[in-house]
Amino acid sequence: MALEVKKLGVIGAGQMGLGIALVAAQKAGVPVTLVDNSQTSLDKGMKFADKLLEKDVSKSRITQEMAKETKSRLNPTTKMEDLSDVDFVIEAVPEIPDLKTSIFAQLAQICPPHTILATNTSSISITKLAAATTKDPTDTSVSSRVISTHFMNPVPVQKGVEIISGLQTSQSTVDAALELCKRMGKVPSISADSPGFLANRILMPYINEAIICLETGVGQKEDIDNIMKNGTNVPMGPLQLADFIGLDTCLAIMETLHQGLGDSKYRPAVLLRQMVDAGWLGKKSGKGFYDY
Ligand code: NAD
Repeated sequence: MALEVKKLGVIGAGQMGLGIALVAAQKAGVPVTLVDNSQTSLDKGMKFADKLLEKDVSKSRITQEMAKETKSRLNPTTKMEDLSDVDFVIEAVPEIPDLKTSIFAQLAQICPPHTILATNTSSISITKLAAATTKDPTDTSVSSRVISTHFMNPVPVQKGVEIISGLQTSQSTVDAALELCKRMGKVPSISADSPGFLANRILMPYINEAIICLETGVGQKEDIDNIMKNGTNVPMGPLQLADFIGLDTCLAIMETLHQGLGDSKYRPAVLLRQMVDAGWLGKKSGKGFYDY
């Protein structure tokens, strides 16, 4: 039987961490210790949680009482030590390899010996993060409990989540991650620890190819987006989607695929790199393939 998660820890109260904490508190009904090293980020995150819950109440998706209960399950803190009693922790700090490895090394010290240590990384190897939990690679007592639960953005809306094992990850860790994700109302897919995992391995070359079609004049941006939108029944075309994800993020993921897999078919589009150089990063910077 999979480990029952009675208390969850989430590290990072940003875009992803806050979403993960809120969905866990609301759908799975678990108390969540939400850690961020910035009080400002915690305050901002909790305010955003209020806004999302108010919206759910106004649309009659939940009652005022349910919103209050959900909020009471979120326990914000700036202290990593407060994770000493959680059964499962999900790390969602920025995508900086050294930062993540140092957090996993700290978790190995702080958390009890049954706690599952999960990451929400978009591109870093799970095997590498697991290795950071120990000085003796043959001792897998902690590294076997490291896994990735890669949620999709925005977490309250997107049902998909990738479960990624490192070389060291045990089956009981996979089972616990699957169980928690299902309790959160998500539909998990299992992926191997390979660059881009499944979602980005498929999505980013699709976006990159759309950019190559634009740069080589195969089609105008509206035509590229319209044919995919109306031809494959997706809510937005690849160029608009790239603007929403952030062109810097798209470039970073293509570089990970290109370097990690060593195949020229993953070469980032020249235009993608130029747009990032120009500071045209999409929606967040006000200009990308479209103006915002
Ligand atoms: P974000 O920048 O919105 O949030 C990161 C949070 O971590 C911030 O609140 C920051 O204050 C906090 N933080 C920084 N250092 C910390 C530390 N040492 N201890 C505790 N908190 C710390 O980032 P995000 O977009 O939520 O991304 C988080 C992770 O999720 C990244 O690994 C990213 O690759 C991954 N991811 C992002 C998306 C996306 O679309 N944004 C999708 C899937 C996965």
